[in-house]
Amino acid sequence: MKIALIGNQNSGKTSLFNLLTGNNQKVGNWPGVTLERKTGILRTSNAEVIDLPGIYSLSPYSHEENIVRRFLLEEKVDLIINIIDSTAIERSLYLTTQLFNFNIPMVIALNMTDLAFEQGIRIDVNKLSKALSVPVVPISCLKRTGIKDLIMLITKDTPTSTNYLTIYSNPLQETINKTAELLPIDAKEFLAIKLLENDIDLAPRIDLDVSKDIKKLNDHYKLGISEVLANERYNFIEKVRDIAVSSREKPKLLTDKIDRILLNKYLAIPIFIIIMLLVYFLAAGPVGMFLSSLVEQGFAALNEGLATFLTNVGASAWSVSLVVDGILTGVTSILSFVPQLLILFFMIDILEASGYMSRIAFFFDRVFRKVGLSGKALIPFIIGTGCSVPAIMASRVIEDERERKLTVLLTPFIPCGAKLPIITLFAAYFFPDSMGLVSASLYFLSIIIILLTALLLKRILYKQKYSPFIQELPTYKAPNMRYVLRDTGHKTWSFITNAGSVILFASVILWLLLNFNWKMQFGVAIEKSILSDIGRLFSFVFYPFLGTNSWAAAVSIIQGLIAKEQVVSSLSIIAKLSGGNTIFESPLFNFFTPASAYAFMAFNLFSAPCFGAIGAMNHEFGNRRTMIKALLLQTIAALVIATLIFQVGTFVEGLL
Ligand code: GDP
Repeated sequence: MKIALIGNQNSGKTSLFNLLTGNNQKVGNWPGVTLERKTGILRTSNAEVIDLPGIYSLSPYSHEENIVRRFLLEEKVDLIINIIDSTAIERSLYLTTQLFNFNIPMVIALNMTDLAFEQGIRIDVNKLSKALSVPVVPISCLKRTGIKDLIMLITKDTPTSTNYLTIYSNPLQETINKTAELLPIDAKEFLAIKLLENDIDLAPRIDLDVSKDIKKLNDHYKLGISEVLANERYNFIEKVRDIAVSSREKPKLLTDKIDRILLNKYLAIPIFIIIMLLVYFLAAGPVGMFLSSLVEQGFAALNEGLATFLTNVGASAWSVSLVVDGILTGVTSILSFVPQLLILFFMIDILEASGYMSRIAFFFDRVFRKVGLSGKALIPFIIGTGCSVPAIMASRVIEDERERKLTVLLTPFIPCGAKLPIITLFAAYFFPDSMGLVSASLYFLSIIIILLTALLLKRILYKQKYSPFIQELPTYKAPNMRYVLRDTGHKTWSFITNAGSVILFASVILWLLLNFNWKMQFGVAIEKSILSDIGRLFSFVFYPFLGTNSWAAAVSIIQGLIAKEQVVSSLSIIAKLSGGNTIFESPLFNFFTPASAYAFMAFNLFSAPCFGAIGAMNHEFGNRRTMIKALLLQTIAALVIATLIFQVGTFVEGLL
């Protein structure tokens, strides 16, 4: 049996999917996270459950909606579980009325009943079920109530009826029925409606001329057919609501009270800034640094112990160097940042799970619109503090194509988890008294650059247009710690496995290229190595913001393309092989000044992202040319910004 799980974004679909299948999946407040097709096997049966992306309607305007339409049309679905948010029943039922037209048996899972109860919303399940002629099971994924009943109904008493109510008035309903009869396929009613709506995606593919019917209906209703359909669906929903839903006097919700401060016209942005400062202060400031230094000391001891051990058991000098200077230095230089990332991911997850991020995104809509971005762009930007790859994919929540592409272009400007090590490394050494502040300043710099670039591109390329912000705002709630911890763990673990695979591999290659010259002689001075020559070839590019031609800095930056973590690993390995105790005492890196250090951080922040993110950009842009243009634009922007910082910084340093 094939069961499709369908519902609005944030209706609790992911939560229900996990409860039904026992699969562990990520749960966040953001739409767009449920992009992949997830399947699982229903507990206590062998039915397959497919988790479809969260949607509000079945128009062809977003990727998600298209995925769901295609799925229902092309795959043989035996049952739809339509998950409905009881606190937003009218919005949820809009989708339900469209699902009726597929003539697939359906069960309604009425979720968030706990919240509805708290908010004083009373739903009479029996009346609702009768009014819709669909079985309804009240559940709460949070409190885990009703899930067993739902599973029982699906497995023991599987609904089979596909006789849905006729919703529309005549002559519309008659025309739909008549058109459906002429279609040889399943889902006749859905396709008949799409044909009459002249759906840009489906209508051209159906070989049936309904232009006369459309004209007749237009004349009758004096409105476009899509509008008539929408109106009549809402009329139907209102009737159902009046029958089944009653609410007592709505108490002043806690959320409204909190919003009066957090989303206050004047306070919202300062509070957001303070919260982000605090996040970075804790992650990159004294607390994170302290924890990282503990890990670092542990690794240093391990390195030393291992070197002694290997030498004692008679390992050759080169193998000791490969293991200690190459692999361990490269990998552990990155792993020591794990505590800082843990703090960062944890706090961002808390902000997400508490509902704050969705609500502040709504607030930002006004600001973002002015520069040609939708408020929804904040979603990828925030996910981007973890990793640009899912963030770039999350841009799919934006309907407007140009806004979406602009967001894909700008998302890598956000300091992702892998860029944090570069920032804290340089900030700690060059700005020891204000590490947290300097780290946070780069975050805000990235926001400013994003807004400026968007504004610039809007002026040059795009007309003013924006997609409305339809994400339903979740209320504030105490974050679900199980989800937060799981998600934090998941992100941190993928950082660690990256260090164990990509960084390890790159470190070995780096070590080889640093120890051999072109004649393949081993153990040459590092300045004569293959890598130093490669670096010299490119070092002129970075001269404008480093103030010197440094092959070592050049190769480190270029390796950021593999993974941004590799920048720090590479600096560490080169420093170690060049005989420096610490990176900035190495003769190869002692040229850095606070100005060039800040410029270096900025360049790495804004230049072309890592291969993973470039791949995601390519995918989202849909063609290589746009992707290459975007990379060039990012790198040129990085060069200009870093050079400006270096020049101004050097000038200021001269004054002090
Ligand atoms: P999706 O976007 O539809 O996949 O929804 P999620 O499963 O990610 O849920 C969105 C948010 O609603 C999460 O923070 C969940 O913890 C929360 N949530 C899900 N089900 C319930 C419920 O029954 N009651 C309450 N109070 N919260 C819920």
